[in-house]
Amino acid sequence: HQKDLQLLKGTKAVTKSGVEMEINANIGHPSDVEMVLENDADGIGLFRSEFLYMESDDFPTEEQQFEAYKTVLEGMKGKRVIIRTLDLGADKQVPYLNIPKEENPAMGYRAIRISLDRKELFVTQLRALVRASAFGKLAIMFPMITSVEQVKEIKELLNQVKADLKAEGVAFAPDFEIGIMIETPASVILSDLLAKEVDFFSVGTNDLTQYTLAVDRMNPQISSMYDPRHPAVLRMIQMAAENAKKAGIWIGICGESAGDTELTRFYVDIGINELSVTPGTVLELRRTVQQLD
Ligand code: PEP
Ligand code: MG
Repeated sequence: HQKDLQLLKGTKAVTKSGVEMEINANIGHPSDVEMVLENDADGIGLFRSEFLYMESDDFPTEEQQFEAYKTVLEGMKGKRVIIRTLDLGADKQVPYLNIPKEENPAMGYRAIRISLDRKELFVTQLRALVRASAFGKLAIMFPMITSVEQVKEIKELLNQVKADLKAEGVAFAPDFEIGIMIETPASVILSDLLAKEVDFFSVGTNDLTQYTLAVDRMNPQISSMYDPRHPAVLRMIQMAAENAKKAGIWIGICGESAGDTELTRFYVDIGINELSVTPGTVLELRRTVQQLD
């Protein structure tokens, strides 16, 4: 079985009817790159940048972040690396952010809400990312989007960062993709409008399941209700896929259920272009896709 999977290295995930699926890996630390290459993923579909903030006692500097992103981009040797901006808050806390205790942290001060509130932190991360773009194929992704205005604000900040770096004579890639996580019901409902603003969508089924079903993903007492295969969740994904296709952008899935092989056929049928999973399941998913007719 394992030996059979090894034979799939160097092949593509294409169905018998010729539909190609990009299969990427999720990582949480630069040291994971080795596993990604070992499992022959097409690229990195989600690099969670939180580790930088969770591993240190204070905000990581632009230089520290730049080095980490550059290491991953160089390690992937030209394969695309999608780096997600800070997604702290809710289940991922760091003491130095001093977030007051919240009644509903999952619906509270987290992710892009922190970034757009504490702009100095966000700009530091954006500068590190844009600088790293000179060393590989970068794409930047933003978490927990709920409005078109947020995306417009992000794009303005990003343009300002690029203009500043240019003025400073710092090199960066002339154009790289930007995308958003589709992980709130609001982002799905607005996906026709959001698709006009970005290059790609990546569905975060972990949070999308939580928010669509109003089931806390961390609460063991209701874990039997936490169902990423729930028809309401699948319809959400389908709606986002239809709007992505209409706008001519690509759409992937990077939540846990990207690797649910019971859903692979559904994903192909609704036009999902990319799946990003833990490195160890890349080859198995590739085989599942190759066996679909
Ligand atoms: C998700 O919500 O599906 C996701 C990929 O992000 P995280 O699990 O980091 O919240
Ligand atoms: Mg999420």
